[in-house]
Amino acid sequence: MALDPNDKKWLTQLFGTKIKFGELMSKHTSLRIGGPADVYVSPETQKQLFELTAWAAHRQHSYLIIGEGTNLLVKDKGIQAIVISLKKCLNEITKTDLGKNKYRVRAMAGATLRSLCTFAMNEGLSGMNFAIGIPGTIGGGIKMNAGTSKGTMEDILDTIDILLPDGKPQTLCKNQLNFSYRNLSLANTNHALHGKHPIILNGGFILNHTDDRELKKEAKLILKDRKRKQPIGWPSAGCFFKNPSPEQPAGLLIDQAGLKGIRKGDAEISAKHANFIINTGKASAEDILWLMKHVQEKIFKLFNIILEPEVKIVGD
Ligand SMILES: Cc1cc2nc3c(=O)[nH]c(=O)nc-3n(C[C@H](O)[C@H](O)[C@H](O)COP(=O)(O)OP(=O)(O)OC[C@H]3O[C@@H](n4cnc5c(N)ncnc54)[C@H](O)[C@@H]3O)c2cc1C
Repeated sequence: MALDPNDKKWLTQLFGTKIKFGELMSKHTSLRIGGPADVYVSPETQKQLFELTAWAAHRQHSYLIIGEGTNLLVKDKGIQAIVISLKKCLNEITKTDLGKNKYRVRAMAGATLRSLCTFAMNEGLSGMNFAIGIPGTIGGGIKMNAGTSKGTMEDILDTIDILLPDGKPQTLCKNQLNFSYRNLSLANTNHALHGKHPIILNGGFILNHTDDRELKKEAKLILKDRKRKQPIGWPSAGCFFKNPSPEQPAGLLIDQAGLKGIRKGDAEISAKHANFIINTGKASAEDILWLMKHVQEKIFKLFNIILEPEVKIVGD
């Protein structure tokens, strides 16, 4: 439903100048691409977040929850919805001793994966190092089941708290979580209401006590390896396509197809890592989508493999 002047007044009363109407999403995505969102806001407290989502549900306004926008391609015409970023609220990270060298670390959805990895390292807790160097928030990481060949969120998650579309909070245990490769599906559970998905509020991670010096040493090596392999410094959304299988990573297939370095406008298949599409200047979502389609067609023709995007494509 389109916003009317009363809606805008209500939002401005709750958020003051922090509410942005027609905000370019290119300011909030790591690809630096994306047209205007009807509304963009980053609530600063959980109370504000709950108030906003309850109001939006009541007024039948759709909303999109994001973290740091590091896995998003927002289309050029933008998003006809309220975009709510959690990166300014829900930032706490705490730990509880479970005995026998085990700890449950609870990280709120708006905290960064970086801060959780640093917390775990400083506390001498093992299990998080696989996520060293992955940007984004805990909420985004859980939704995307973020990971590398060294591990995924699924491996260490014990419980999550979610906010249901009807405004009720709920705790889900590991055996209720429907994880798959780079996805946690909350949609086909009985928690989805009228096509709206629950909001992840936090995650509880089970980590084991260990020598923090070993963790720090390992973390340095992982970061060094990422720097060596990835086009760090260029706007991107990380790996663009899902790997069809561990033996056939998308990057290898794209490289073998001779597509490294090809461009459309300012969008480029990275010459350093073929599964990264980078924005070398003023690339549009159209440019990125053109490259995506081109790569998909070539890979299908050469290898009979359908490459699926890992990046979430949103907007109009
Ligand atoms: C340089 C670079 C390297 C990367 N390397 C990796 C890597 O090694 N491994 C990997 O897995 N990924 C990698 N990524 C991708 C990305 O960092 C991860 O997917 C990350 O977990 C996304 O977090 P985010 O907060 O930015 O989520 P966003 O991009 O903001 O959102 C991603 C999705 O999650 C949903 N979402 C976000 N927060 C919530 C919430 N609280 N509740 C419900 N839904 C939510 C959004 O609606 C969207 O569908 C990389 C990205 C970049 C730019």
